[in-house]
Parts: sequence; C-alpha cells; structure tokens
Amino acid sequence: MLRSGFKAEVWRCLGVVAVCSLAGLIGGNFAVGLAVGCGGYLCWLFVHIYQLEEWINRTRRASAPPKEELRGVWADISYDVQLLLARHEKEKLRLQAVVHRVQEMTTALTDAVILVDRRSNMEWWNKAAEQLFDFRDIDQGHKLTNLIRHPKFIHYFDLKSYANPLELTMWRKDQHLEFQVHIFGDGERLVIVRDITRLFKLEQMRRDFVANVSHELRTPLTVIRGYLETLADSPQLPQAWQKMVSQMEQQTQRMTLLINDLITLTKLETDQKEPSTTPISIAHLIDSVISDARTLSGSQQHELVTSGDRDLALTGNERELRSAISNLVVNAINYSPPGSRVEVSYQHEIGGARISVRDQGIGIDPKHIPRITERFYRVDASRSVASGGTGLGLAIVKHVLLRHNAELRVVSRLGKGSEFSCHFPQSMVVRLPPEQTQDSATRRS
Ligand code: ADP
Repeated sequence: MLRSGFKAEVWRCLGVVAVCSLAGLIGGNFAVGLAVGCGGYLCWLFVHIYQLEEWINRTRRASAPPKEELRGVWADISYDVQLLLARHEKEKLRLQAVVHRVQEMTTALTDAVILVDRRSNMEWWNKAAEQLFDFRDIDQGHKLTNLIRHPKFIHYFDLKSYANPLELTMWRKDQHLEFQVHIFGDGERLVIVRDITRLFKLEQMRRDFVANVSHELRTPLTVIRGYLETLADSPQLPQAWQKMVSQMEQQTQRMTLLINDLITLTKLETDQKEPSTTPISIAHLIDSVISDARTLSGSQQHELVTSGDRDLALTGNERELRSAISNLVVNAINYSPPGSRVEVSYQHEIGGARISVRDQGIGIDPKHIPRITERFYRVDASRSVASGGTGLGLAIVKHVLLRHNAELRVVSRLGKGSEFSCHFPQSMVVRLPPEQTQDSATRRS
C-alpha cells in the first residue's frame, strides 16, 4: 500500500511532466516541454532534499518542520525521521536512567569497583574505590597501574589471567585487599577490590592458635611418651596392662605425628619468605625418599621403582619438597596392597618439569578428588587412621606446591590405582651439568 504522501508525489511528478510536455506539444516542441517538466521537477526535488537535510542537521528541533516547508513524500520522510528521533531520545533517557541506577548501586557497595577501558585507563570508579585508593577526578583517563603501583598487582593485572583473585597487603594503610578482575565488552575490565583485613586477621589468629596449641602440646606429649616407653619396657608391668600401655603408646605416637604435621602446615602457611634459589637434584632427593619408604613398606614388600632425567634440578626449599614427595610416596604405600608397584618418575616436560607418584592401590572415587587436599578430608576415615594417616598429608603437599608455583594433578580410578603428579614451571627448572648427575637410569628395590 502506497502512503498518501508518496502517491501525491507520484501524481505531482506525472502532472508536472504531463503539463510541460503538453505545453511543448502545443508550442511545437515536445522535447523542450518534456525537458522543462523533468528539469522543473528535479529542481523541486533538490529544494526539498536541501530543506530535509537542513532540518536533519537541526535535529534538536522537537517538532516536524511546518507543512508548508515540506510536502508530499518529504513530509512523510521528515515525519518518520522525527519518530525515529523521538524513539532514540526515549531509549537514551531509559539507558541513562539504568546507568544512573547501576552507578547508585555500585556507590552503595562497600567493595571498591573500578571500570578500566581496553587501554587500561580508568573510566569510572565508585565511592569505596575513591576512599580506598584516594582517587581524584583528574585520575580519570590515567592508567590504573600508575595509581595502584604494587608490583604484584601490576604483574597480575598485565597477565590477563584472572581465574584466581590476588591478595595483597598494602603497607601504607596496613590493609589486606583482595583484587578480582573481570574482562567484559571489547577488552574492558572491571576491577573489584574487597577489604579483607578483618578476615585476614581472623585467619592469622586461627593460624597462631593452631601453632601455639601444637607447640604447647608437644612437651607434655614427649613426657607421656617417655614414661609409656619406660613402662612398656619394664619387666614388672603386669600382663593385663601390657595391651593397654601398647595402645596408649600407639595413640601418643599418632598424636605426635598429628602435631608435627600441624606445625609443618602452619609454618608453610605463615612463611612469607620465598623458597631459596639453590638448585636441588631431584634424583638424589627421590632416592633418599625411596630409601625411607622401603623401611616403611617393610614386610609389605612394595616394588618401589624410580625413573627419570637425572640432570633435573629444581630451585626451591629442599626440606619442603622432600616433605611433599615423601607424603605422596607414603600415601601410595599406605593405600596399595602389599607387593604392588609404586613408581616415582621425574622428567622435564614442555613448560617445566614433573614429578609423579603412581600406585596400583585402591584408587579414589572421582567425586572425592576435588576435596582430598583439604585438611582432615578422608575418603575412608577408618582406613586412614589404621594406616597411621593424619589427614594432613595432601594439605601439606598442596601448600608446598603453592609456595613453589607448582600444581598438583590427580588421576585415579577406583580399584586400579592413582597418579599424583606435581608440575613445576620452567622458571624453577635447572639442568645440572653432567659431572653432577649420574646416568639416567631406572632403579628398583
Ligand atoms: P591421610 O593422612 O588420611 O592419608 P592425606 O591428606 O594424605 O591424609 O590424604 C587424604 C585422603 O586422600 C586419604 O585419607 C585417602 O582417602 C586419599 N588418598 C590419598 N592418597 C591416596 C592414594 N595414593 N590412593 C588412594 N587414596 C589416597
């Protein structure tokens, strides 16, 4: 269906051309009449296009141009443009209201919110951010990393890998902050900063409490163990008491292991020092762990096998690394049947190095795997206690690896066995010169 304005325009065009052609025909020159008609109409069109263009340029005008200014299809077009403009204006106001509302909401937040454009320049921030970092209006458009200059934050922000939040201590205000960055839109970033000072202090109190209790319990426990050992060795100990004393000895032994593990874990959590940069020969370290494991396996006769690149060395803390690998090997023995094979391998890999401990033991149901590094999490508590486990072994492994920027991966199948592998980044890997290594070999016991 043609709109009336367009219809009128068609009629106008035909009318002008027809009248001019007729006049030309009467005057004896049809072609001239036709040309004058078309030309006239063309001029009319140009005048209206000009007027329309003028009007669009002055779009702030609220109403349509008066009828006498534009006619026919031009009036329709101007009406449509005006309608679009009105719609656009309404949408703009709606969006502005939404933006204001979001800004009001984020202003009310106690967490600091900072909006950063794709060039890392600050676009907007809320009141909490202003108070936390002393941002001023003139900071708008400046690089965020020029205003939050903590080297760890700059590294985290530039890395663009924000799977985990970053925790930082800002010495200036004795504050502990947690930074979480979200990427959105066209490379823009939303930085959310939480003040976790209270949480941090509570966590510190918890750590101090565990460390103090563990230390305080150590001395009385040593005394009790000493007396129990003397009692157990005493020939005057009545027969009926022997079982009781032996059980008391076992339990104090368990408590000692538990306290020692708690102290190790607390030390790992509180030690702020970066692990040393001295290269540690992994082959030597694993050989000595395996030698201890052989004693543990004792009559169970596990087949302990090691293999790997004997030139592999890692920079880190030897005591901590030994403790982590030892915990994995002890678990492999404790959760595997006698005589089964436990394999420890260590080699260079793309992007770093790996040390893995594989067993043919009871395996772990996949649903438990995400939680086994939690403190005191046990798949089968009675089995863990029977094997002398404290429930802290894998938590210690996790913390040691965390301190060495390494990652623990677990692959396991129920009834088939498990593989715990530690992946170290290239930055920690060193190749020992040949004079410090023995030939790459597979060793058995
Ligand atoms: P625990 O002292 O109880 O062994 P860990 O923290 O070392 O504590 O391990 C947590 C739990 O993970 C264990 O209780 C056990 O159920 C499971 N687990 C650890 N290592 C193995 C393994 N090699 N095979 C099977 N289960 C394992």
